[in-house]
Amino acid sequence: MATANRREYRAFEEPAPAMRRCDHPDCACAGEFRAPKSRQRLNDYWWFCLEHVREYNRAWNYYQGMSADQIEREARRDTVWDRPTWPMGSWRAEQRLRTRIYESFAEGAGDNPFHAGREAQEEAKQGRPPTEQESAMKTLELAPPFDLKTLKARYKALVKLHHPDANGGSRDAEEKFKTINHAYSVLKAGFAS
Ligand SMILES: [Zn+2]
Repeated sequence: MATANRREYRAFEEPAPAMRRCDHPDCACAGEFRAPKSRQRLNDYWWFCLEHVREYNRAWNYYQGMSADQIEREARRDTVWDRPTWPMGSWRAEQRLRTRIYESFAEGAGDNPFHAGREAQEEAKQGRPPTEQESAMKTLELAPPFDLKTLKARYKALVKLHHPDANGGSRDAEEKFKTINHAYSVLKAGFAS
């Protein structure tokens, strides 16, 4: 019977929600909620868990009502001055993911936006390269705030520990010693005024 065949075919194409995995690459939850893949493919769906369908929809809604110029500007914005309480990395990652989702939806790319979003997340996790001061603090194992006295004491202790003479003149010790000296001069400069 035609009707029965049709029903069977549909059942094959769309397995029960419990059997479907969320299309987010890092998610093992059941994909119970569908979202169109793109504007051009409104009958072609991603299946996400609640959390990820919300994320997907939020990203899309975020850009609605913006002009092309505004979207462009938003996508390129990489400062966070208007959101001082957000950690830089996570805000930037969310923004990139949002842009990515929006683009794949609007352009009908159809490729899983969360895949590319994951790259952005990874990138953001690594964050921007450390400043010279940050590297110096890491070398001297200091965390702000610290005063000049603390800086000098730490420098003295590390110099003693890593002095080439105390390490049989090893090359590694010499390099470390140089790094420590450089770090010290970088941080000391911050106290000079
Ligand atoms: Zn999920």
